[in-house]
Amino acid sequence: MLKKNDIYQTEIIDYTTEGSGVCKIDSFAVFVPSSAVGDKAEVKILKSAKNYAFGKVETILSPSPNRISPDCDIFNQCGGCTFRHITYQSELDFKQKRVYDALTRIGGIDGSLISEIIGADESDFYRNKAQLPVTVNSEGNVKVGFFAPRTHRVIALDDCQLQSRAFSPAINIFLEWANQNHISVYDEKIHSGILRHLYLRYAEKTDELMVCIVANANELRKEKQLVQMLSENLPNLKSIVLNTNTDKTNVITGKKCRTLYGDGYITDILCDMKFRISPLSFYQVNRTQAEKLYQKAAEFANLNKNETLLDMYCGTGTIGLTMANYVKNLIGVEIIPQAVEDAKNNAVLNEISNAEFICADAAQAAKILQKRNVKPDCIVLDPPRKGCESSLIDTISEMSPERIVYVSCDPATLARDIKLFSEKGYFVEKAVPVDLFPRTTHVETVVLMSTEN
Ligand code: SAH
Repeated sequence: MLKKNDIYQTEIIDYTTEGSGVCKIDSFAVFVPSSAVGDKAEVKILKSAKNYAFGKVETILSPSPNRISPDCDIFNQCGGCTFRHITYQSELDFKQKRVYDALTRIGGIDGSLISEIIGADESDFYRNKAQLPVTVNSEGNVKVGFFAPRTHRVIALDDCQLQSRAFSPAINIFLEWANQNHISVYDEKIHSGILRHLYLRYAEKTDELMVCIVANANELRKEKQLVQMLSENLPNLKSIVLNTNTDKTNVITGKKCRTLYGDGYITDILCDMKFRISPLSFYQVNRTQAEKLYQKAAEFANLNKNETLLDMYCGTGTIGLTMANYVKNLIGVEIIPQAVEDAKNNAVLNEISNAEFICADAAQAAKILQKRNVKPDCIVLDPPRKGCESSLIDTISEMSPERIVYVSCDPATLARDIKLFSEKGYFVEKAVPVDLFPRTTHVETVVLMSTEN
């Protein structure tokens, strides 16, 4: 074992999937957060286990050529960004390798099928959604901000460089209202107090803003005043929603929404189509990159007018609806009722009449569709990080679509599912990583699978 507090001269040779630097000391893997591959440094051991250890950079002897100086004062404490200390190109290299390693090692595919990652033109200010915990500082003032890593400590932010710049005025007005009126703040330890999260969404293309207050209550004291302050001062404000979450939980939003102002949703334009988004519906946080992702998905799907398309995990219908004009009919499946409601409205909004949406669990819906003898020619899968249930993979394989387009936000579960599909006779034809989350370790991947090899 390496000894705690000992200092070693070493070189960072790799990253973990979480973006921590890794070096080898006496054949131990030592994880060194905030270091860069190529750094030659003195590393101090902070914690040592049987086969690995954690360390921190004590002194950089010679910096990695990929190092840049972080352009954010709270980069090291905040935890929102993993990469602000290396160039964007080396971040893309990390993501490419992450996808490559997962798909070749776990997925068992030939690495030459993976194309070069599609990077972002703009790596800052891209997030159109912020869910900011509300807290009080030592002077008793209400604050909002991000949690520091692995803690529930909140770091206040005025100008986060990942978030859309459209959010700052709304944050300031909300804080002014809360402080003026001494609205209590939720304390998770004793499960009391009112304000839990300030949840903001911005439709970049239409310049529409949504303010959603997540509260441990069904109504707010001085609710009307809040509506007045926000609506009078924010010309692009489209909606204010009160979301009630009275549960003892880490989940941010509760199930109940009440519209305090506007229609309860915002409408964005994506791939030249209109999408209405309400608070509980999923919408990609990086609009510009989402368009590139969906274009790739459409290219891989290569649909024609005689075909039936099944869009699994469809959210507000974005992927399927952008392809609906190229197929005979579209079926979307999504588990969140409000998202299905949005999807149905989005079909109408875009004059699409060949789409049907089902509110159900994907695996169960697939079984129902199979019983209905629906035979999709192409299935799009866009599951959350945990990937597809194996029973869904079984049913899909039995439905035997010609093509499966898998859009994934987690290379590891994607690779696991590819492997399962390969046991059912599906082969990966091509794959491409897309960066929707610059400055973080997250990466999306689109994969085309088919029965032909
Ligand atoms: N394709 C959409 C949404 C992708 S996010 C888009 O690109 O915008 C994944 C979606 O899967 C979310 O909307 C989530 O609510 C939904 N979901 C999660 N678990 C599900 C399940 N078991 N069955 C169906 N949908 C599910």
